[in-house]
Amino acid sequence: MVASEIKKAFVDVACPVCDSPQSKEVRSSQYPENISLEELQSVYCASSDHTLLDRVVSCQSCGMVYLSPRLDACLIQGGYEAVEDPVFVAQNPQRIQTFTKSIAAITRRLGYQPKGKKLLDIGCAGGAFPVAARTAGFDAQGIEPSRWLSDYGRRTYNIDIRQGILERDTFPKNSFDVISLWDVIEHVPEPHEILTTIHGLLRPQGYLWVNYPDIGSVVAKVLGWKWPFWLSVHLHYYVRATMQRQLERAGFEVQYIEPHWQQLQFGYVLQRASALVPPVKALERLVTSFGLGSAPFTYNMGQTLVIARRK
Ligand SMILES: [Zn+2]
Repeated sequence: MVASEIKKAFVDVACPVCDSPQSKEVRSSQYPENISLEELQSVYCASSDHTLLDRVVSCQSCGMVYLSPRLDACLIQGGYEAVEDPVFVAQNPQRIQTFTKSIAAITRRLGYQPKGKKLLDIGCAGGAFPVAARTAGFDAQGIEPSRWLSDYGRRTYNIDIRQGILERDTFPKNSFDVISLWDVIEHVPEPHEILTTIHGLLRPQGYLWVNYPDIGSVVAKVLGWKWPFWLSVHLHYYVRATMQRQLERAGFEVQYIEPHWQQLQFGYVLQRASALVPPVKALERLVTSFGLGSAPFTYNMGQTLVIARRK
């Protein structure tokens, strides 16, 4: 692959929030000179083990932080369609447990009765979120670009998962009560487009649930470039104000935005943390030796939950 073809694979993008083309560089591109297109595409998979290589900019008009240039949307889509990830789906039982608790907390807070309500989870990977929603009482389904992951979810959980990218005519208008974008909006090349599509698919007053990593969070500020959500697959880096503006532009009214506390096993959290802060490794060994590795641990790394409503 010659350099000019790689260059053509990247596109300059305007601000996803306000459309302004004026931006300033926050961090320069870290890509090696002679990377192949295949290597580039392999970056776009479900698990988050690829650090940030792309150029980061901030919008001079609204302050939104995003990647530009970024890989062409068709190439990103092709990368996601080809994902096969047995290691990722091996964690599905824990993921379903976590999502079940999150969904229960949201419906309790909203005083929402899920029984018989239609929920669509966009970018559902191996189906963990729609499975948890079904357990909560929703009539749940998902859509996922990866052929392998969508097939895995259908076969394993007997749940309705459509393979593909959400388009305006994928589902009839006004057909869902709740749509979720859980750890997805930061991956989507055209957030305004997907949000207007979702607006059309929701029934009036329908809910949109968005979970995203917030660079305005305390932990993101403390860790700087070591924050684990700086990744080549994360194209957009919202703070609450830019997220709110992005949603309002597509016709949503934000009900609340707050930190999302996640529960994982203590040993797993320490293992991930020791990759960032090596001395944590000793603590991990100690915890494991006391048999506390599987104890539940509640933490927040900047994940933020937004509940919005279709106006
Ligand atoms: Zn902007």
